[in-house]
Amino acid sequence: MRVLLLFVDGVGIGERDPEKNPFARFSSPFFSFFKNEPLPVLPHGGIVIPTRADMDVPGLPQSASGQTAIFTGRNAAQALGHHQSGMPTPTLRKLLDESSLFKSVRARGKIGVFANALSQHYFDNRGEKISATARALMAGGFPWLTMEDLREGRAVSHDLTNEFLRQMKFDVPLRTPAESAKILAAICQRADFTLFEFILTDMFGHNQEMPLAEAIVCRLETLLNTVLTTIDLQNTTVVLTSDHGNFEDFSVKTHTHNLVPTCVWGAGQNIFLERVKRLEDIAGSIAAVLQL
Ligand SMILES: [Zn+2]
Repeated sequence: MRVLLLFVDGVGIGERDPEKNPFARFSSPFFSFFKNEPLPVLPHGGIVIPTRADMDVPGLPQSASGQTAIFTGRNAAQALGHHQSGMPTPTLRKLLDESSLFKSVRARGKIGVFANALSQHYFDNRGEKISATARALMAGGFPWLTMEDLREGRAVSHDLTNEFLRQMKFDVPLRTPAESAKILAAICQRADFTLFEFILTDMFGHNQEMPLAEAIVCRLETLLNTVLTTIDLQNTTVVLTSDHGNFEDFSVKTHTHNLVPTCVWGAGQNIFLERVKRLEDIAGSIAAVLQL
């Protein structure tokens, strides 16, 4: 069994209010779950499990602690005593180094891939201040995918089009979201555990530009439709989850206290249904599906 984890930054379960919630305004069958409503069955037989992101720590959930919890199964906010935004602190880096899913994958002789391309420039520039995703990958000792991989169609970029990298003057081709999603589907067929990170949802949740939000919803739909029609759900479990709410509520510029969706397609659904109530439960569920 393989697992593809689609980590989508800053998406909670919000109200069915088109004024506030892009998922209500630009209705999408993949994001048809709303607060205080029965849970729908998603296209391709997906289920949605409302998931607590608060880790029993007061304050608004944030990215570095939330992502560390997702990728390690540890209560990162309690370890720190607060929610942490931005990049992992030394305490969070220690949790990632000790307990990253990629490390467990490696220990069982399986293959883990972070599908997003990273540049040498990224590591040179940031030193220790790299993202939770990159740190989680490195804790497993797996190589990162490069700009060369991206050019050759063996890696993807977080925006699924490469526009951000091109704006930063990287020599990479423009791709459509469907082309990138096909590449992602091919990557996950060669690995046991594949992680993809999508961050525009958190960025646009903070920026609150509703007209652009429609394009983000469409991009996520294309990603899911393409991946779920390309891969074999008999041997691959696809999981989409988030670290905290944000994009589902344009009435505030901050993150939200909303539950986040953990959406699951494929053979491992029951394992997630039985185990997932909180962000910290996701890594153990993935490990169980992968038999780590
Ligand atoms: Zn944010």
